[in-house]
Amino acid sequence: AKASPASARRRKAATQTRDWPKLSSPAKVLFPDIRATKQDVWDYYTAVMDHLLPEIAGRPLSVIRCPSGTGKPCFFQKHLTAGLERVASVELKEESGTNAHYLVVEDAAALMELVQFNALEFHPWGAHADNPDSADRVVFDLDPGPDVPFSEVKKAAVDIRRQLEALELESFLRVTGGKGLHVVVPLAPGCDWELTKRFAHGFADALARSEPDRFVATATKRFRNRRIFVDYLRNGRGATAVASYSLRARPGAPVAMPIGWNELARLPRADLYTIKDVPEKLRRRRKDPWAGMDAIRQNLARWADAK
Ligand code: ATP
Ligand code: MN
Ligand code: MN
Repeated sequence: AKASPASARRRKAATQTRDWPKLSSPAKVLFPDIRATKQDVWDYYTAVMDHLLPEIAGRPLSVIRCPSGTGKPCFFQKHLTAGLERVASVELKEESGTNAHYLVVEDAAALMELVQFNALEFHPWGAHADNPDSADRVVFDLDPGPDVPFSEVKKAAVDIRRQLEALELESFLRVTGGKGLHVVVPLAPGCDWELTKRFAHGFADALARSEPDRFVATATKRFRNRRIFVDYLRNGRGATAVASYSLRARPGAPVAMPIGWNELARLPRADLYTIKDVPEKLRRRRKDPWAGMDAIRQNLARWADAK
């Protein structure tokens, strides 16, 4: 089984809105700092639906739900729970060995049902539900220590892109809406998690060894103030990374946005794009910076052979 092409996945976005759930408590404030309501969140996800849905459709999905808004406790949910009638699921083996039903969104109605349940963030696996053991992307999650200026994070992403190019791997860029950047490497055909993880870990380790003043690749040393933690741990079975176009449950309601490599130089911060300006930006945007990603045929064979 393989991923449906982007065009097919985009068609699913055209789900009739009559299948959507009814929105309750539209006036509830979910982002108190900017007084954004549940209605605002609903309107945001309606506006970005055609962009977000292809990013998450058919993948095991975790969500961050904030029933009382971002100032109050939020929780990470990965399993199907009662009341989610439009959301699909896939039964997968957990690390513990038991099976569990993971959330899967297949259409707009399911996504809006999760919004109705106060889901603010969407975090897919790097694999599809029908092929959960085959990673179709590697995500390098650049997590700067508190004293690292954003310009250094940008430089790190560019260096990583160059080093991936040396392995004949094309990569794509996302600002997380938080502190850092994600460098995403599509894989097709997919790759088993064992090799994917070994690659990601090895790549991060090599960076940290060659430039120990800039990079850390050890989770326990991640809080080194002046260094960037190259978080390779996004690349395991069951691990997730935030979806492009997802809101973040953080002050200002920032958005995880794919950007072009040519946009990076002018980017001032990772939380630049927000609930307020992304729908407009998408209307004006001439080109999706991740266009063509689904058509790229590349895998880790060259790297694996060199080992
Ligand atoms: P930032 O740029 O601020 O680091 P981020 O989205 O990269 O934003 P991270 O904390 O680095 O945030 O986490 C990377 C990814 O790991 C998240 O997008 C999420 O999918 C996953 N993740 C983070 N925390 C958890 C958690 N508690 N449980 C499961 N997955 C998590
Ligand atoms: Mn991160
Ligand atoms: Mn991280």
